[in-house]
Amino acid sequence: MGTATIDGRRVADRRTRRHAGAVPDDAAAPDAPLPTEEELRARLTPLQYEVTQQEGTERAFTGEYWDTKDPGTYRCVVCDEPLFRSDVKYDSGTGWPSFWEAIDPSKVTLVEDRKLFMRRTEARCARCGAHLGHVFPDGPQPTGERFCMNSASLRLEPDEA
Ligand SMILES: [Zn+2]
Repeated sequence: MGTATIDGRRVADRRTRRHAGAVPDDAAAPDAPLPTEEELRARLTPLQYEVTQQEGTERAFTGEYWDTKDPGTYRCVVCDEPLFRSDVKYDSGTGWPSFWEAIDPSKVTLVEDRKLFMRRTEARCARCGAHLGHVFPDGPQPTGERFCMNSASLRLEPDEA
């Protein structure tokens, strides 16, 4: 790749990642540019777009993964970063896919959310900023956390048999 093609965003991405700790071997290609808004509108379903880009929430018990038990890796639907493993997914009874921890703490950014006059912790993809869902302190051990995610933010990549 020619040096002339490097733009500000790609340089910034690289800088962020260097400080983000170890990156798993199956991480999204570090140099892959993030999709543009036009690309996302074309590629994502309207619900996927609304949830990831406009902090929407899918209706409980309607998403693709709320009851999924297949082994695999849940990746960000926007940028393909690996976010959760199926072995920390559990049935929370809420109707949304729930996990007790991220694949790596550096993969998910937690943001205090004061919308609706409630204090909640919003979870975003650390790489692309996609809204994923919220985190609550009522999950199972060992973490006691419940990552309450939207199926629309995720893409399950099944493990190879
Ligand atoms: Zn992402």
